[in-house]
Formats: sequence, structure tokens, C-alpha cells
Amino acid sequence: MDLSEFRAALDRWLDDNAAGLAPTDEDRATLDAQMAHLSEVKRRAYDAGWMRWGWPERVGGLGGTNLLRAYLGEALTARNLVEPGIYSMTEVLAPTMIDYARPELAAEMVPRLLRGDETWCQGFSEPGTGSNLASLACRATRTDDGWVVNGQKVWTSLAQYAERCVLLTRTGTPESAHRGITALFVDMDTPGITVRPIETMHGLAEFSEVFFDDAAVPLDRTLGEEGQGWAVAMDLLPYERSTALWHRGAYLYRRLEQFLADVPPGAVTPAAVGEVFQQLYAFRARSRATQRRLAVGEKLGAETSIDKILLATAEQAVFDLITDGLATDVLLGDDARSARLRSEALYSRAATIYGGSSEIQRNIVARRLLDLGADR
Ligand SMILES: Cc1cc2nc3c(=O)[nH]c(=O)nc-3n(C[C@H](O)[C@H](O)[C@H](O)COP(=O)(O)OP(=O)(O)OC[C@H]3O[C@@H](n4cnc5c(N)ncnc54)[C@H](O)[C@@H]3O)c2cc1C
Repeated sequence: MDLSEFRAALDRWLDDNAAGLAPTDEDRATLDAQMAHLSEVKRRAYDAGWMRWGWPERVGGLGGTNLLRAYLGEALTARNLVEPGIYSMTEVLAPTMIDYARPELAAEMVPRLLRGDETWCQGFSEPGTGSNLASLACRATRTDDGWVVNGQKVWTSLAQYAERCVLLTRTGTPESAHRGITALFVDMDTPGITVRPIETMHGLAEFSEVFFDDAAVPLDRTLGEEGQGWAVAMDLLPYERSTALWHRGAYLYRRLEQFLADVPPGAVTPAAVGEVFQQLYAFRARSRATQRRLAVGEKLGAETSIDKILLATAEQAVFDLITDGLATDVLLGDDARSARLRSEALYSRAATIYGGSSEIQRNIVARRLLDLGADR
């Protein structure tokens, strides 16, 4: 199916099924409810075929390019049917499973993620290791038939809901840096795994600490080869900075449009609105080009750091504008709409941190794309 056909048919389906897909106030009220509603939307979209387009047939997909997935996520977020952060974890994790898991494992697991039967999480960051990922310490030790994992992860989004985790572990010496890392696909109900949700300032416990205490992982859950974990991470991060960000951009457009409909006359200047729109448009133009490059089979890499910087800048600009224009509601309002605006404004502070901080993205741009210094 080509993109224009897909868009028209999907839009019709979304119109016809709007009542069943739209979240109620209760569906939005807590993260538990948002996650349950997300599973329901994914299940309906999968069973109707939409969630399968853009994924390869060997993992239960119906084929076609990533542009179909980009439009599905755009339509679902722009219509306010799903929250982009929790929806787009699929875009972050499924492509790397397809690239690195045993074909039988990918064929068994990816459909569960697409259909919303399962949630997965990404266990990369540790208390002493976020930006400097190559120094991670969570250790996996080889046994006769697999690995035993000991250590801790932190900021693991949705870990408390997750059935599986794409986990980076240290399998080489502590000094082996990026050469001694191995990626594992771990069942979160494995004995020895403890998940402790962390409450954030925006009021939702979106991420968790995860502790591993002699957690056994079978050998056939290794993603790629032993010691190839850095390549797995470098494969995953550009996905995190491409289609998932496109979906987030659609959500920011919706937020800006709603703001312009709500804001009292004169509360913000046209120049301030123009500046924010220009930032969002710059992100969208860049991200559109990235989607097109993926669609023709180009491998993404360090250049997706530019997409991440533009998205983070635009996200904070949108919510700064909303906070200026609707200050009383955002700062003091106690109705559900104000609470949501406040929560989103606070969450926008995370945009320059999640998926790699803006400082680190600028280092990547300087060193790898502009050749302005050593890449340490
Ligand atoms: C909402 C949210 C969701 C997240 N979800 C996940 C997840 O699901 N899985 C996961 O593994 N991680 C997740 N993270 C963690 C995220 O990837 C890290 O927070 C991020 O990479 C930064 O690492 P850090 O927190 O250890 O900060 P640090 O690396 O300690 O950095 C602290 C500050 O120092 C700056 N800094 C560090 N090194 C340099 C340098 N060399 N040059 C210039 N400045 C530097 C950073 O930019 C930052 O401002 C999430 C984070 C957030 C906010």
C-alpha cells in the first residue's frame, strides 16, 4: 500500500472508530489507565491491520516502508488518541529486535509488542552512567547455559509495566569500555529482578529503578554476539531519534494549535508565536527528511542527533509559550485541563535529557559531523 492510499484508508478507519478509540478522562487520569488504554488502541489497530503496516512480514508485519508507521503514530497522537511517549517505545525497541535478535525470537516477540499484548523497556542508563554509556557496570557473567545478571539500571521508562527489557550489560573487564558490552533480551518476571518506580515532578511515575540480583538469562536471549552490545546501542539510538520523534512533533503541533484556540487575545505576541512555530517547523522539516531516508533503506547514525536537538528545543519552546500565555491556568489552575497543562509543561524539561542530553548531542554533532575535535 502506498502512503497516500494508507493515509486515506487509515483516516477513514479512525473516523469510523473514533468513539471506541478516544480516551475518556478516566483513561488519562493515571499512568496505569493510560497504559491500559494504549494497549487497547494498539490491539484494535493491529487487528485491523494498521499497526502491522511498515513492519516486515517475518515479524508479523504487512510490509511497506516506515512512512506508514510514521503516519499511523502521527494520526494517533494528532487526534489525541494516545500519548506519544508511551506509544513510541515500539519505534525505539522493535527495529533493534528485528536487526539483532535470532529470527525466531523476533518473529515470536515483535507481534506481541505491536499488538499491545506486551510492554518492553530499555535498560541502558545506570546511576553512574547515562551520557557516558560505555562505562556501564551492570554485569552479566557466563554460565554453562546462559548469563547471570547483577547490577542496577535507572530511569528505565515503563519498567514497572514491562514484560521484557532490552538490557545492556558489562561482559568484559571493567576497563573494556564499549568493547565489553553485551545486549540481552530479558524477561522482567525473571527471579532476582526488582522494579521500583520513581515519582517525577510532572506527577507520573514514568520510569523506574531496576535491580538485578543473580537474574538468569538464557544464552539464546543474547542480541547479536557477545561483546556486540555497543553496536546494538548504536543501532537503537538513531531509531529513538527518528520515527518516535516524528510522532512527538505531531503531538507538539496539536498542543500549539490548541493553545492558539484557547489563549486570550494579547496574552502572547505574534512574534513569540512565530518564533515557536518556526522552531517546530524546522524540526518537522528535518524529521521528514529523516523519515524519507529511512524509507529508501539508508542506515541512520550520528546525524539523528540534529533531529533530537531540534525536537528538544521546539518542545520546550512550545510549553514555555503555553506557560506564558495561560500562566494562571498552568501555575494555579486546579481543574483537570490545568493539571494536564502543568504536567506537560514540567515534563518538557525532560526533553533536553531523554534519549541523550542536548549537550551530548551537540558534542556528537561537533565531533562526528563537523570534525571539530577528538571523539572520546
Ligand atoms: C523522561 C526520561 C526517560 C528516560 N528513559 C530512559 C530509558 O527508558 N532507558 C534508559 O536507559 N535511560 C532513560 N533515560 C535516561 C537518559 O538517557 C539519561 O538521563 C541521559 O542520557 C543523561 O544521562 P544522566 O542522567 O546520567 O546524566 P549525566 O550523564 O550525569 O549528565 C548530567 C549533565 O551533565 C551533562 N554532561 C555529561 N557529560 C557531558 C560532556 N561530556 N560534555 C558536556 N556535558 C556533559 C549532561 O548533558 C547533563 O546536563 C530517561 C531519561 C528521562 C529524563
